[in-house]
Amino acid sequence: MSSDASGILPAWQAELWSHFAHAIERDRVAHGLLVCGPPGVGKRLFADHMMAALLCRERSDAGEACGVCAACRQVAAATHPDISRLVPEEPGRQIKVEQVRAFTRRLYLTPQYDSGRVGWIEPAEQLSPSAANSLLKTLEEPPPNCHILLITNHVSALMPTIRSRCQLWRVPPPSADMARMWFEAQEVDTAGLDADSLRTPFAVQDRRERDYDGLSRSWDDALSAVIRNRQDVSSVAEGMARQPVDLWLDWLYRRAAALMAVALNDERDTTLPRTLLQIAHRLDPAALQPWLAQVAEAARLAGTNADWQLVIESVLLDLKASLKRRPATS
Ligand SMILES: [Zn+2]
Repeated sequence: MSSDASGILPAWQAELWSHFAHAIERDRVAHGLLVCGPPGVGKRLFADHMMAALLCRERSDAGEACGVCAACRQVAAATHPDISRLVPEEPGRQIKVEQVRAFTRRLYLTPQYDSGRVGWIEPAEQLSPSAANSLLKTLEEPPPNCHILLITNHVSALMPTIRSRCQLWRVPPPSADMARMWFEAQEVDTAGLDADSLRTPFAVQDRRERDYDGLSRSWDDALSAVIRNRQDVSSVAEGMARQPVDLWLDWLYRRAAALMAVALNDERDTTLPRTLLQIAHRLDPAALQPWLAQVAEAARLAGTNADWQLVIESVLLDLKASLKRRPATS
């Protein structure tokens, strides 16, 4: 994932940034800063800029970090001593209460620089309930000279008491034109991008960097192999469980929607590869319905400490079972 503090803010964040610059200039930046907005709009980049501006020793009039002072160089090299990060131990998992306690202890240490400490929590919606409660105390009585940035795709999934103690920074999605200009500046061809991709340019960029297309192809092959009894479900699930949870869920959602569309005889712009298309023709929409609910449940379980391999295994087995249930037709 690209997390480049020196990266230029995209045009659709300019207005929001001017509000932040105004706040920092007047010393009105709250201790708790909640950066929210839909996935893929560039929240991390915006939060990176906020953090760099808070720590910089020679901030510009526009509230931007200078990029050259000692603090800025340490931020860029990820060696700044006054930054504490709180992230899940494994991607997709919950942030535990013990982690919050250790994080809070670090925030109380005397900062190296007089600009104070910055805490970074991402993704904030993955704080377990007890972790959120523990953090709440710190947000109510923050250590002096300290800012805590919370980054979330799902602000409604946070405890209302956490939300109410933070200043909200809502990063908007771009207009289609702004997104096209942004992609073109990076020499990305925008011809094949649908409206959804244009609203989530950073998600598109992230998927490219992490070879989402290659992973999708390997998951498609594994799925058809399982359905055709050419590969064992638990070994396929074991392999999938080791791969990025967010990308796997994205792939699962897309495949589920496409399988349903084909099962309902809608093959317009289907994205299914040929082998899965043949399988989709054998699916009964009524039998597929409970499976779609299971896909949503799998996404929910990804954020808990459930056995992820078992979750994947049951998703695969139940899809297989819904194939068999197809009633005999003439
Ligand atoms: Zn600087």
